[in-house]
Amino acid sequence: MKFSPEKYELEDVSQQPFISETEINKYLGSGSAGPEPSKVREIIAKSLEKNRLNLQEVATLLKTTDEPLLNEIKEGARKLKEDVYGNRIVLFAPLYVGNYCTNNCRYCGFRASNKNAQRKTLTRSELICDVEALEDQGQKRLILVFGEHPDYSPEYIAETVRTVYSVKKGKGEIRRLNINAAPLDIEGFRTVKEAGIGTYQVFQETYHPETYRKYHTGGKKADYNFRLAALDRAMEAGIDDVGIGALFGLYDWRFEVMALVRHTSHLEACFNTGPHTISFPRLQEASDSHINNGYRVGDEEFTMLISILRLAVPYTGMILTAREPEHVRKEVIRFGCSQIDAGSKIEIGAYSRPAGIFQDLNKEQFFLNDNRTLDEVISELIDHGQLPSFCTACYRLGRTGEHFMEFSVPGFIKRFCTPNALLTMAEYLCDYATPGTAEKGWRVIHETLDNNDLKDRKAELTDRINRIKNGERDLYF
Ligand code: SAM
Ligand code: SF4
Repeated sequence: MKFSPEKYELEDVSQQPFISETEINKYLGSGSAGPEPSKVREIIAKSLEKNRLNLQEVATLLKTTDEPLLNEIKEGARKLKEDVYGNRIVLFAPLYVGNYCTNNCRYCGFRASNKNAQRKTLTRSELICDVEALEDQGQKRLILVFGEHPDYSPEYIAETVRTVYSVKKGKGEIRRLNINAAPLDIEGFRTVKEAGIGTYQVFQETYHPETYRKYHTGGKKADYNFRLAALDRAMEAGIDDVGIGALFGLYDWRFEVMALVRHTSHLEACFNTGPHTISFPRLQEASDSHINNGYRVGDEEFTMLISILRLAVPYTGMILTAREPEHVRKEVIRFGCSQIDAGSKIEIGAYSRPAGIFQDLNKEQFFLNDNRTLDEVISELIDHGQLPSFCTACYRLGRTGEHFMEFSVPGFIKRFCTPNALLTMAEYLCDYATPGTAEKGWRVIHETLDNNDLKDRKAELTDRINRIKNGERDLYF
C-alpha cells in the first residue's frame, strides 16, 4: 500500500529531508567498547533469516572491532549472498554520453572549474557506433552516464535512450538501459521513464551535510536536499527501480553506511519499496583533483562496508564497478555484490575507437582500475565458480519496484534468475565468446543444469538452450 500523506494530515514527508546527523551519530556513538559477541552473532543470524536490519543493528556491526567477529560478519555476508543470489553475477557496461557539466564537485574530472577537461557530447552517429561496439562485445545491459548540463534535458536523455534501444547489430541488442544523470523534477523523470529506462541512479555522494557543502560548491548540485529527495521524485513519477549510492572517501565510511540504510528505510516507508540497487564507489584519482582528507577507505574497510550493507539489506542489489582493481574485485565480489561492470571504458566515444595505451585523465571522469575485456572478466568469473548473467527479464516482465520485492522471496532467484543466467550465457557463448571461454562456459552450463535446484526446469531449459544453439534469441522466464 502506498503512503498517502493526506490520510495522516501531514505534509508530504517524502519530499522532506530525512537524514539526521544527530540520529546517526547517536547510534554510532553510544557504547565505546566493542559490542558483545553474542549480540553481533544474533544480528548476523537475523540477517541470515533474510530480515532487514534496523539502524541500531547496523551500528552494532559497524562498531565491531574484534578480528574473529569481523570475520564472522564477512562469513555471514558471504553465506547470505550465496543463499539469496546463488553464484550469479549480473554484467553491464557504462556508456558515457557527455561530460559537459555546470556543477563543481571537487572530486570529479568533469567539474565546471576543471579547465583541463576535454569536453564532448556524442553525436547521434557516434552514439550509434559506440552502442554497436558494445553489442559486438556481447553487452545487453548498459548504464548511460551524463554530466549535469542544460543540454542533457529530460527530452534529450529520453531521445538518447530511444536511439540506444533502436541499435541492433548482428544478433546484438541492448535490452536494459539504466541512467546515471542529474536529479530531475517529477515531470522530467516522467519523460525519461516513458522512454523505457530500467533503473535511475542518483548518488548522494556524502550524506553528511557539512561535508556535502564542502565538496559541492557550485551549480544545482550544491543543494543537498534537492538531491536527497531526487529518488522520491523519481518514484512519484513512476520509476520504481531507483539506485542510491555514496562516494566513499569523502567522509566517515561508517556514517555513509548508516545513511544508505536510512535512505533505504525512507523509500520503503514512503513507497513500499526500497532502492533496487546500492552503489559504493570509492574515490579515485581524477583530473586536477587532489583530495587528502583522511577519509580514504582501505581495502579491509571496503570489504567490511560491503559485508555490512549485504547483511543490512538482504534483497537489495549491490553494484561493484571497475573503479576497483582486479584483485579487489575478485575478493569483495564474494561478500555481497550482485552486479559488476565489465569491458568498461569511460572516455567519451572510446568503445568505437581503437584502444589507446594510456588512460587520459583529462578525457575521463576518474581513473579506471580494471581495464579487462568483457570476455576476460567472464572467463575469470567462471574460473571462480560464478555464473555470469545478462538477464533483463524482470524489468521486461514488469517485475520491478514493489512487484520485484514481492517476487524476491527465497527461492525466486534460483527459480527464475539462475535459468535466465544460463540462457543469456548460452547466447553469449554462441555469439561472442573466445574459444577458451566458450569451452568452460558450456561446461558450467551443463554442470548447473544437473544441479538439484534446477531439476523442475531442466527439460525446459535444455530445450531452450538447444533453440538458442539453433539461432533463436531472447528466451527468458
Ligand atoms: N553528473 C551526474 C551526477 O553527478 O550525479 C551523474 C554522473 S556522475 C558522472 C556519476 C558518479 O560518479 C557520481 O555520482 C560520483 O559518485 C562518481 N564519481 C565522480 N567522481 C568520482 C571519482 N573521482 N572517483 C570515483 N567516483 C566518482
Ligand atoms: Fe558534474 Fe556529476 Fe562530475 Fe559532479 S559528479 S562534476 S555533477 S559529472
